[in-house]
Amino acid sequence: MSNNKPMPVPTEISAPFWEGLKAKRLLIQQCTACAHWVFYPRRHCPACLAHDLAWREVEGSATLYSYTLTRIPTLPDFMDEMPQKLAVVELAEGVRINTNLVGLAEDEIHIGMPLKPVFAQVDAKGNRLLRFTGLDKDAVNLEQLPAVDSEPVPVSSQPEPRKIDFNDAASLQALVSEQFSDWSNSIVVDQALIDAFAQLSGDDYWIHTDPERARLQSPFGGTIAHGALVQVLQSRMKLALDFEVTGFSTQINYGSDRLRFPAPVPAGSRIHSRARVKQVELLPRGTQLTLELNTHVVGHDRPSVINDLVILYRA
Ligand SMILES: [Zn+2]
Repeated sequence: MSNNKPMPVPTEISAPFWEGLKAKRLLIQQCTACAHWVFYPRRHCPACLAHDLAWREVEGSATLYSYTLTRIPTLPDFMDEMPQKLAVVELAEGVRINTNLVGLAEDEIHIGMPLKPVFAQVDAKGNRLLRFTGLDKDAVNLEQLPAVDSEPVPVSSQPEPRKIDFNDAASLQALVSEQFSDWSNSIVVDQALIDAFAQLSGDDYWIHTDPERARLQSPFGGTIAHGALVQVLQSRMKLALDFEVTGFSTQINYGSDRLRFPAPVPAGSRIHSRARVKQVELLPRGTQLTLELNTHVVGHDRPSVINDLVILYRA
């Protein structure tokens, strides 16, 4: 997985903490003069000002001191983990750590709950961040890199579609509706996918491909996917349509009556789509069905792609 998320930069003082996480060990400083536990990593003890701090491994048993759920991403790069469960956790040793809660539903989180550490892998190089979860959760499973591929559509949400013959004008007309279908499965548009599309299409403009520059100069605060990429990713999303047109010999993508990109898709966003039948015409060349496809960043009201896709069914 690629991600553009800002990562901590170890300093000379903090390096043992980060190296510890890589080895799935939680190392905290303790003052050898007064036994006070110290976090974040420092040169001196904030209790007695002694300069003699030792790194000690601790178990990581903790309680939830405070937390908040972010409804708006702190950076566009965090769009894929909304809502972020930002927490202050108190270790048994008494120090407090800013962190994220993982593997917990919103209604499972309460102040004072016992927690255990998750050494969450965040890249292929073996870097890990310290996160926390509930005692009854599978911390090892939560350590894995998040899957970027499509999440499966729950089988229960896919009723057998009604079959409608492509010459059945009345049944086809009855499909025309202002009402959109349910959402499709969702997929993540990460920087690796955007870079691959940039290479394929030749559109390697920095607003898509240069996360550092985009963070400083883009009005979106980071890189965004090409509109055309988001449009073609439609093929990876299974629309929740409750009908299937049958009886034709060939089905042709006849193009688009309208294609708009009203909202950006920041790198790392999860997108999904839905559709409605806008128009049906039985023409000499075949049955022409116009499907309005809307693709949104998950949780956003404004669509990122509106595509009035024209499908031609030929005898
Ligand atoms: Zn001390």
